[in-house]
Amino acid sequence: MVTSSYTDTRLLINGEWCDALSGKTIDVLNPATGQPIGKVAHAGIADLDRALAAAQHGFETWRKVPAHERAGIMRRAAALLRERAEEVARLMTMEQGKPYAESRVEVLSAADIIEWFADEGRRVYGRVVPPRNLSVQQTVLKEPIGPVAAFTPWNFPINQVVRKLSAALASGCSFLVKAPEETPASPAALLKAFADAGVPAGVIGLVFGDPAEISGYLIPHPVIRKVTFTGSTPVGKQLAALAGAHMKRATMELGGHAPVIVAEDADVELAVKAAGAAKFRNAGQVCISPTRFLVHNSIREDFVRALVKHAEGLKLGDGLAEGTSLGPLANARRLTAMSKVVEDARATGAKIETGGERVGTAGNFFAPTVISNVSLEADVFNNEPFGPVAAVRGVDSLEEAIAEANRLPFGLAGYAFTKSFKNVHLLSQQLEVGMLWINQPATPWPEMPFGGVKDSGYGSEGGPEAMEAYLVTKSVTVAAV
Ligand code: NAD
Repeated sequence: MVTSSYTDTRLLINGEWCDALSGKTIDVLNPATGQPIGKVAHAGIADLDRALAAAQHGFETWRKVPAHERAGIMRRAAALLRERAEEVARLMTMEQGKPYAESRVEVLSAADIIEWFADEGRRVYGRVVPPRNLSVQQTVLKEPIGPVAAFTPWNFPINQVVRKLSAALASGCSFLVKAPEETPASPAALLKAFADAGVPAGVIGLVFGDPAEISGYLIPHPVIRKVTFTGSTPVGKQLAALAGAHMKRATMELGGHAPVIVAEDADVELAVKAAGAAKFRNAGQVCISPTRFLVHNSIREDFVRALVKHAEGLKLGDGLAEGTSLGPLANARRLTAMSKVVEDARATGAKIETGGERVGTAGNFFAPTVISNVSLEADVFNNEPFGPVAAVRGVDSLEEAIAEANRLPFGLAGYAFTKSFKNVHLLSQQLEVGMLWINQPATPWPEMPFGGVKDSGYGSEGGPEAMEAYLVTKSVTVAAV
């Protein structure tokens, strides 16, 4: 067992770690035990006003720091995070539940993301456009949009912040984040690495509290120029509407319902290894988690058998215990949700091949679950389960699989396994998703766009597209007189 003590989390306002002015706090629970392990400060409106004033002042400072220097500070933050990876990963596992090895990968990949954006920020080029009158010079400038309000969820407490934070800072924006109250210490450690690396006071801010109160105050506030949210589709639609009403630029990274198409010619072993590992990573609480397994009927039985074997080989336990490969669900709401998903699948004719129930009475442990013969009406085939449940349905052709994949309003990630170039071509052209991985698990590297289509949201959190979201364009035309 990796041991560690947990730390209480404070707000970061104007370069200082502070309690809420009211002194209010929220308890943080360990999902492996259900017991409180610490507290997080609960910001009220007066704290938000201070944080907004700091973000405005921070923006005036940071936009004047040359991109080269901003990159240097960001690279120092990445180095600090790497040095602290083990300590930060322990905090994450204690508050979120995922196995320690997964937490450590999340922290280390955050450092990679920071470095990629640090470098990308040095390549924010404008253009010189040929004029119609040669005594005129036409230029296009890219400028930071302004102070950003970010809202991030509890499933990847660091990753969900770092993509937004890195792109914002690299572009010259200041950044105020409402991070998740359920998993506050690890995102605070991320911001601490930036503060310790020399990001000036006010450029980054961190608050926690009542999510609806905070978004309702920050999004319309005149200081905020850009909104970025990761979470569920219903909440995303509300926040996007609020942003629209106040003419704020928005990026929405929302729910998914990833199809996994296993074609007749697929390498079944590879499909189970890649999609099985991806399914149970972070106990399935992943927006790009493989969810609807659409398997050709000629190989369906072999596939289900192998997936069940994979699921039964996982070791469920406290994420800090040696050998754990599947941790508890992050909060008790997910336990209730998983029980409902399984009950509904059973009632609509599915077979529970393995798992399907809570394990133990302390902590939020749910057995890795494989369900076969799932009907199109089953809840699991329509709403994001966000848990360790793989739902398998047979199909007779690739066309049928593609039609099913596109049936839902979601369009985030998709996966497919096939050896045929013709199938790859069809899948690439026809699947309505923002990200498609074929014959491999997801590799959401920072240099690749990350985002969805349809109800999964808009905007990207990877690649040069991610920088665009934090930049505005100014065209400047000058006549030589
Ligand atoms: P939820 O929908 O209430 O919350 C999801 C996230 O949005 C949380 O981080 C929450 O703090 C935040 N949130 C909720 N209302 C908000 C508001 N008015 N303003 C600002 N932020 C707000 O429910 P939940 O129980 O936390 O999660 C349930 C569902 O959310 C999951 O089933 C999943 O579909 C989705 N979710 C998606 C992601 C993702 O990575 N896309 C992450 C976490 C949760």
